[in-house]
Amino acid sequence: MPRRFIHHHGCGQGGYLHTTPYGVVLLARCRSCGAEREMDREALDKAYVGMKDLSDIAARLRCTSCGEKNGDLLAGYWAD
Ligand SMILES: [Zn+2]
Repeated sequence: MPRRFIHHHGCGQGGYLHTTPYGVVLLARCRSCGAEREMDREALDKAYVGMKDLSDIAARLRCTSCGEKNGDLLAGYWAD
């Protein structure tokens, strides 16, 4: 059974990278093909310096599966 991602609404889309607590999983989910990829918070911080809005960062993420820029960046955690 695949792990289930629980979107934490308190710090999810519309939230900010710098207010997202450490330990929270950042999951990029493609709206075109449904691919999901766990993002490294440190890497995002470095790659998108000055961009704090998760939805702004999401708009610049390109899906590694289908190549579309049509993703959401969700903050949450994995449930067993
Ligand atoms: Zn995709």
